[in-house]
Amino acid sequence: MRILLVEDDPALGPELKTTLAKHGYAVDLAVNGIDGEIMGKEDIYDLVVLDLGLPDRSGLDVLRNWRSQKNNIPVLVLTARSAWQERVDGFDAGADDYLPKPFHTEELLARMTALLRRANQQISSQLEASGLTLDENTQSVVRDGEEIALTGTEFRLLRYMMHNPGRVLSKLQLVEHMYDDGAENDSNVVEAYIKMLRKKIGHDNIKTKRGQGYVFGESR
Ligand code: CA
Repeated sequence: MRILLVEDDPALGPELKTTLAKHGYAVDLAVNGIDGEIMGKEDIYDLVVLDLGLPDRSGLDVLRNWRSQKNNIPVLVLTARSAWQERVDGFDAGADDYLPKPFHTEELLARMTALLRRANQQISSQLEASGLTLDENTQSVVRDGEEIALTGTEFRLLRYMMHNPGRVLSKLQLVEHMYDDGAENDSNVVEAYIKMLRKKIGHDNIKTKRGQGYVFGESR
């Protein structure tokens, strides 16, 4: 899952990014409204965590602009605790959920999981496909009752594929969901990771579409 975090607070932004990365998300951080809006237009994020008080362009304007352009990406808004009007404005502008500051990381993570689940129309934190069960909460993957040991990068790669079964996913799409910005964005490493994943989850679960990318599970 790739997350766009738009937060100008010089302490909170990097801290949240680190926390979310530890929980298996690939996170890009934008520190002002204009950068955030532009990044959110790229169709690569699964969720946005958006602060409302931002330099250059307010979070509300960013959100309104996305929605007016029919960008339906799930957005969780961060608001000041006492500002009930901000929350109302946030929902009016098209926010999917909000969290007042200061907040506990656990609550943010739980709300993010709920939003992502809703966006993917899942009913639980577990994802099942091709004989594999992936649990978002425990970040584990089980097959035939046995847990498969995966690295963080392998987990992120498999999670993205399991969210998109039967779809052809390009190397570029895959690598974008494996790493944060700043990390090496070389799509050639995808091949190596696919090879390792196949060894762990079964070769037939990932098919190669020559010149296009990879398909997890059954082709549609
Ligand atoms: Ca702020």
